[in-house]
Amino acid sequence: MNMMKNESKPESRNGLLAIPPYVPGSSYLPGFPDPVKLSSNENAAGCSPAAREAFERSITELYKYPDGGAKALREALAEKYDIHFDNIMCGAGSDNLLELAAHGFLNPGDESIYFKHSFVIYNIAVRAAGGVPVQAEQEPDLSLKIDRLIEAVTPKTKLIFIANPDNPTGTIIPFSELEQLIGLLPSHILIVIDEAYYEFADSPDYKTALPLAEKHNNVLVTRTFSKMFGLAALRVGWGYASSDIINIFARIRSPFNISVPGQKAATAALKDTAWQEENIQTVLSERARLEAAYTQYGYHFIPSQANFTLLPFENQEAASACEAFLLSQGIIIRNMTGNGLPHCLRISVGLPEQNDVLLAALEAYKSQ
Ligand code: PMP
Repeated sequence: MNMMKNESKPESRNGLLAIPPYVPGSSYLPGFPDPVKLSSNENAAGCSPAAREAFERSITELYKYPDGGAKALREALAEKYDIHFDNIMCGAGSDNLLELAAHGFLNPGDESIYFKHSFVIYNIAVRAAGGVPVQAEQEPDLSLKIDRLIEAVTPKTKLIFIANPDNPTGTIIPFSELEQLIGLLPSHILIVIDEAYYEFADSPDYKTALPLAEKHNNVLVTRTFSKMFGLAALRVGWGYASSDIINIFARIRSPFNISVPGQKAATAALKDTAWQEENIQTVLSERARLEAAYTQYGYHFIPSQANFTLLPFENQEAASACEAFLLSQGIIIRNMTGNGLPHCLRISVGLPEQNDVLLAALEAYKSQ
């Protein structure tokens, strides 16, 4: 379209052009029609057959608006996790809940803290809401210490995001430390505990923060159907918080934020516990197999509590060289430049046969 030379154009709100666009994990690799995609922490095994059947049955209802209150899904969540129906809010992926937290609770100039190399949506959501992102330092081994969050608090702090387990390190913050953190912070600060990878954490120190959301009116816990449940395409997540927080979200969310197929498939997925258990066991045993092989081949890695592992290299060049070799073998992984970790590669746990291909390539790379 030709624009008149001196014509003015709509100006976006201040600061929006400074937001780095989100770069999703790549899916395409020229020359490889069916690459091994280990770049987005998806569930390579797909989803429960019950979820797929519910999705297919929903095809007769495509003309309808969804249930804006997602009643059946929330009832199923309340029953499965033994939590209160009224305090559950569903979202178009858990990203949606994270954005609602920023938009609902930050005034322009309010600060929001998160760990420096953690999930980039925190940064995007805070800036989009007009808030100021404050990055808490991580330790040299990239681990997460609650003291660094506490040190970053100022009178302007309104919101804190914590991924637990964290993406991309795959590490956890023990439940006892979360409890301590909540006790130490002023209660006007909203603390979001993002449990997107909850199902894969098996450390004895790890526990869900759902009871903390019941106990404290400044805690929001978010979960997703995109990872263990294998429904990333349908965009279904949920949050659990005090009625005060849920009331704010209810005012600003879009009223039909989860599609009919999304609601039906997620509800069915939730009820298929046998599939869930089997899937989690497979991911955990494949994760252990990957980590044992990394050690054997001489790769440094951070022991993971999620469905991916992070491999730090000596420097960016070394990481890029390994990434290039894997790409040449038809394997897509994720370099962590966008998270400020250009010397790290993140590799999702794939199907056993995909992991075979990955490990063969990693072994070949070390011995070339
Ligand atoms: N939190 C974390 C830590 C994540 O890694 C992701 C997905 N990459 C999400 C939230 C969002 O997932 P979704 O919007 O698909 O629920």
